[in-house]
Amino acid sequence: MNTNYRTHTCGELTLQHIHQTVTISGWVQGTRDIGYILFMDVRDRYGITQVSIKSQENPELYEEAKRLGREFVISVTGKVAERESKNPKLTTGDIEIIPQSLTIMNPAKLPPFLIEDETDGNEELRMKYRYLDIRRPKMANNLILRSKVTKAVREYLDNLNFCEIETPFFIKSTPEGARDFLVPSRLNPGTFYALPQSPQILKQLLMVAGMDRYYQIVKCFRDEDFRGDRQPEFTQIDCEMAFVSQEDIFRTFEGMTKHVFKTVAGVELPDFQRLPYLDSLRLYGSDKPDLRFDCPIIELNEVMGGTEFGVFNSVLAEEGLIACLNAVGCAKYTRKEIDKLTEMVKGWGATGLVWVRYNEEGIKSSVDKFYNEDQLRAICEKAGAKKGDMLLIVADKLKGKVRKALGNLRLHLGKTENWIDPKKWSVFWVVDFPLFERDEESGELTFAHHPFCSPNAEDLQFLDSEPERVYAQTYDLVMNGSEILSGSIRIHQKEVQDKIFDILGLTEEEKQSKFGFMLGAFEYGAPPHGGCAFGLDRWVMLLAGESSIRDVIAFPKTAGGRDLMMDAPSVVPNKSLKELSIKLDLL
Ligand code: ASP
Repeated sequence: MNTNYRTHTCGELTLQHIHQTVTISGWVQGTRDIGYILFMDVRDRYGITQVSIKSQENPELYEEAKRLGREFVISVTGKVAERESKNPKLTTGDIEIIPQSLTIMNPAKLPPFLIEDETDGNEELRMKYRYLDIRRPKMANNLILRSKVTKAVREYLDNLNFCEIETPFFIKSTPEGARDFLVPSRLNPGTFYALPQSPQILKQLLMVAGMDRYYQIVKCFRDEDFRGDRQPEFTQIDCEMAFVSQEDIFRTFEGMTKHVFKTVAGVELPDFQRLPYLDSLRLYGSDKPDLRFDCPIIELNEVMGGTEFGVFNSVLAEEGLIACLNAVGCAKYTRKEIDKLTEMVKGWGATGLVWVRYNEEGIKSSVDKFYNEDQLRAICEKAGAKKGDMLLIVADKLKGKVRKALGNLRLHLGKTENWIDPKKWSVFWVVDFPLFERDEESGELTFAHHPFCSPNAEDLQFLDSEPERVYAQTYDLVMNGSEILSGSIRIHQKEVQDKIFDILGLTEEEKQSKFGFMLGAFEYGAPPHGGCAFGLDRWVMLLAGESSIRDVIAFPKTAGGRDLMMDAPSVVPNKSLKELSIKLDLL
């Protein structure tokens, strides 16, 4: 530490330092002048220290301090003294500094929002003045936590002989199911680099190269329509290993997850359960369910037939699905609340919501016309409903629709009914994914993860005849309802990779132009390999207890993909476009 500027940080001084002469530097968080004494809070990244100046003891300094505005950069030299009224919320709350001198290093304009954890600045303003936002302890601590996570990751992986290797950003497309960001090449007019959606192919080639344990904490770029909480550039902890089975990967990265939790949060996670993908959909209507609370989907086909209710009868006739949630304790819901839920499930694709309410007066439902009390009682029994509960039923001939709507409703209830204990962690593997998915709208077959995942050996026989029956050695790690990791054992044989590209409808030419180099590499001795990538932003978000990844990224983009501070993206001069051989035709 340069002692001209500071001997201590603003988070460091305690009763131990009483009578010492110290110097601190930082930003003026605020001053309070109560007439004969002026209190000033000085803040830096480490904390806040109170400085107090009595007008009688030091009239000159008192007058000077009165002129200090918020966020002035100052340094203060003085004696540490015990405070009269202590502040147990601050680590420095027992002491204050009685200054002998004060230096203003830089004045500051009045900041556009309060630089405190409880700020009055909205998110746009906070992003525009991010450098001020990061002075708020909450934001600063999020970034510090992020740094601790990456340090713990490096520690763990280095111990296991992993090698951190950088891969280029200017590459050819690596498909992960999103659109590429493209960068025009000035030196090769009319051609473009793609920014990596992930280093997937490159890390696989590193395995062919013999670097059998690789990792990289790396930016990935995906040009998606910015839904919800996504960022066009985000960070992955990208990992790959050679000569491993799925079990080896589970052991290694379960170990890493536990190590990070223990190191940065002092939390000991129990061993991770494994949930097959299809069970996850069937029970929770999602491939990333939040299992901090239960409330599974209950299938009711068996007990809903044999009445005059045409809607359900036709669903049953078409082998669709009638299913419900048992909303424990929700029989109290008013008509209005149920109407609101009905609108919500319609928004998630359901045609409607049927309810069965079990309360003091007995069992009532929105389909009383068709179901008598005995039938309703049988339904309640099947769903495990008790007095005070309400069943919320959705039906459709497409099972997926019912599951999706109930999955979303489950999450909604979990939040609104406070079924989620915010101190609880739910971390588990989702396993046994299918290799392909059929796009519901186009009917086209696409890869479920990416096209490099290895099919299960016993399913290879179905590749041609029934590709949807082929399962892959693919896995996700789900944390509190967010997908935090995804990975797979990869294909390492040229013929199998070739075949997958064929099934995905790539022509010989496309195969060669897009992936020729990879297929070529597989002819030079590719070892069996597999790996995964963690979403660092989301993981840190959960550890920080934040609800947006923007709050754990130093300079994030808005939901519309803009950087409000730099005002990017922005128009460039025509000259630059010409150099890049780009003609803009915005008509
Ligand atoms: N490349 C994959 C992804 O970005 C992760 C992996 O399979 O390793 O999701």
